[in-house]
Amino acid sequence: MPGLLDGQTAVIAGIANKWSIAFGIAESFAREGASLVLTYLNEKQRETIESIVGHLPVIKLIPCDVSKDEEIVALTEHLRALGRPINALVHSLAFANREDLGRPFVETDRDGFLLAHSISAYSLVAMSRAVAPFMTEGGSIMTLSYLGSIRVRQNYNVMGVAKAALEASVRYLANDLGPSKIRVNTISAGAVKTASARAVKDLSVMLDATKEHSPLRHVTESGEVGDAAVFLASRLSRGMTGNVLFVDSGMHLM
Ligand code: NAD
Repeated sequence: MPGLLDGQTAVIAGIANKWSIAFGIAESFAREGASLVLTYLNEKQRETIESIVGHLPVIKLIPCDVSKDEEIVALTEHLRALGRPINALVHSLAFANREDLGRPFVETDRDGFLLAHSISAYSLVAMSRAVAPFMTEGGSIMTLSYLGSIRVRQNYNVMGVAKAALEASVRYLANDLGPSKIRVNTISAGAVKTASARAVKDLSVMLDATKEHSPLRHVTESGEVGDAAVFLASRLSRGMTGNVLFVDSGMHLM
């Protein structure tokens, strides 16, 4: 049976290790026939990625620390050198100071606020600008968010505000890039036990609550997010842009 992403090339940003949501997405994309271009934060992360992607059709690894404009510009040059259309961009990265997650939101200082927004929200805008010129056959851009963008979630704080900016950015990008047949959507994932999620105090309480109270009584797995990402990258979602798709066992209803 042909894969849903046969012949496609996807750029995926945000694999830190095999627990990363981006890794689940990479595995789902590979299963459906996509070739993968992966970006990495630093040399240490490149080595980790190389050690876990042996089974995946990775055609290129590109450095991209999104706090550095020059690395985002260089991403464009790397993709130009690759010389093939890009069909999908997965933005699965975020960062905030750990202390800004743990203390009351009202105590967030300017630097912590700007840092969270720069890495977690602005980077989607900058990466979209870098990758969109190669989406010559149209394309699908997607990012990862969390319910803390629209509801107050204890210990999520500045990241919730950054996710709100991220989701609003998706809507404006969808409007700008729609005429080029580039769709832009958000996946709002339930809590998944990853390195980033461990920075949120009481993660285990959230996971237990999901297991007990979500409609599906099930903790979200990165493979479930990966399969929703395949849908967003594929023709099956060709009529959708500017959406927030919840992949959270229905926890957003509760
Ligand atoms: P993760 O720690 O595995 O991935 C986060 C990634 O962000 C890492 O690869 C890290 O290197 C990258 N990153 C941080 N700063 C960067 C920078 N300056 N330049 C480039 N990359 C940088 O954690 P994850 O949970 O897989 O997170 C992926 C996305 O999913 C994030 O946007 C996160 O907010 C979102 N999300 C996670 C959960 C969850 O519970 N794990 C739930 C909903 C949404």
